[in-house]
Amino acid sequence: MSAPTAPPFAPDATTPVPEHLRLLIIGSGPAGYTAAIYAARAMLKPRLIQGMQPGGQLTITTEVENWPGDTEVQGPDLMVRMEAHARAMGAEVVTDTVTRLDLSRRPFLVECDSGARLTADAVILATGAQARWLGLPSEARFQGFGVSACATCDGFFYRGKEVLVIGGGNTAVEEALFLTNFASKVTLVHRRDSLRAERILQDRLFRHPKVEVLWNHEVVEITGDDNPLGVTGAVLRSTTDGSVRPIPADGVFIAIGHTPASELVKGQVALRDGGYVQVEPGSTRTSVPGVFAAGDLTDDTYRQAITSAGMGCMAALDAEHWLAAQGLAER
Ligand code: FAD
Ligand code: NAP
Repeated sequence: MSAPTAPPFAPDATTPVPEHLRLLIIGSGPAGYTAAIYAARAMLKPRLIQGMQPGGQLTITTEVENWPGDTEVQGPDLMVRMEAHARAMGAEVVTDTVTRLDLSRRPFLVECDSGARLTADAVILATGAQARWLGLPSEARFQGFGVSACATCDGFFYRGKEVLVIGGGNTAVEEALFLTNFASKVTLVHRRDSLRAERILQDRLFRHPKVEVLWNHEVVEITGDDNPLGVTGAVLRSTTDGSVRPIPADGVFIAIGHTPASELVKGQVALRDGGYVQVEPGSTRTSVPGVFAAGDLTDDTYRQAITSAGMGCMAALDAEHWLAAQGLAER
């Protein structure tokens, strides 16, 4: 990758003098909160900035069945507990969003949405990932009016209605199953002839009487009315013979994966294909010394709450060792 270049900050006479931190953690998903717990226990006095989605992706799901120690836990509840745990250990948790990060100077310079300016000796990036969209103009047109990427948030509006779910991963299958609580019929549309979702979820999906799976089809357009604005269906294309067909639906849920939230550090740390932050194998060290990355931001393979939490732990330990080696741990 080319030499990192940070966008210049342009302080003027009214710009506040930055507050200095030893360790800043950006992001409040399982990676960020776990890093905060470990860093606080290492007496690093970390500050965690939560971002636009306090608690991260698990706040938009319902049951989580694979968090060790909890046979079943609601995603939002789990994240509230993680936040409380981080605070109880002494981490400072702040509701704000980092808007700019300058990694070309030391200490690193940070600007936040609130206007706060900070400097930090070390930074843990835990900004996770965001839902991906198909990119169709009709999808954008009906977003919030029949097109959604969050069944937990919007499923309630589809009581007794027919919906489509697009995708073939764990999210798509979970969204489809969740929607059966409301919808009269759920059609899962997948572009291939097999799902990548876990077998246990697939079994539940295939057994469900309200669910139909439409294999080898992709969405080419979402159709609807203008007055009132709303979805009436979609146009699907066969990925095997190219034939096109309309399908009626009251709602379309897009569940085709996520894009890593690496915009903040683009051009400053090395990224891999797909925009994931590159870390040294077996560690959370990025291409910039003193900057560590954890969770879905760096992981295109596992993308689980537990693996994100594990990487958050690693990032805090890596940051602690790095700060100590620089003589910055005791201040
Ligand atoms: P995220 O949870 O993505 O959190 C990222 C955080 O970064 C957010 O708090 C956001 O506000 C913050 N942020 C972003 N940009 C900024 C910024 N500029 N400034 C400050 N903060 C910022 N995994 C499981 O193990 N089990 C499950 O059952 C499960 N169910 C899921 C259901 C759904 C619907 C989805 C979408 C995912 C599910 N996952 C599940 C995956 C799991 O949620 C993720 O792997 C995990 O949340 C990733 O954690 P993270 O800490 O890396 O980031
Ligand atoms: P994912 O595993 O990347 O799956 C995305 C799905 O969408 C794939 O089936 C993909 O098709 C399809 N897709 C991608 N782009 C598409 C497009 N343009 N048009 C049509 N289809 C498209 O993403 P995810 O399901 O959101 O899961 C993300 C991570 O979170 C995974 O690691 C998952 O295990 C984890 N997660 C875990 C749980 C759980 O443990 N219960 C629940 C939810 C999520 P192809 O298959 O053809 O590529």
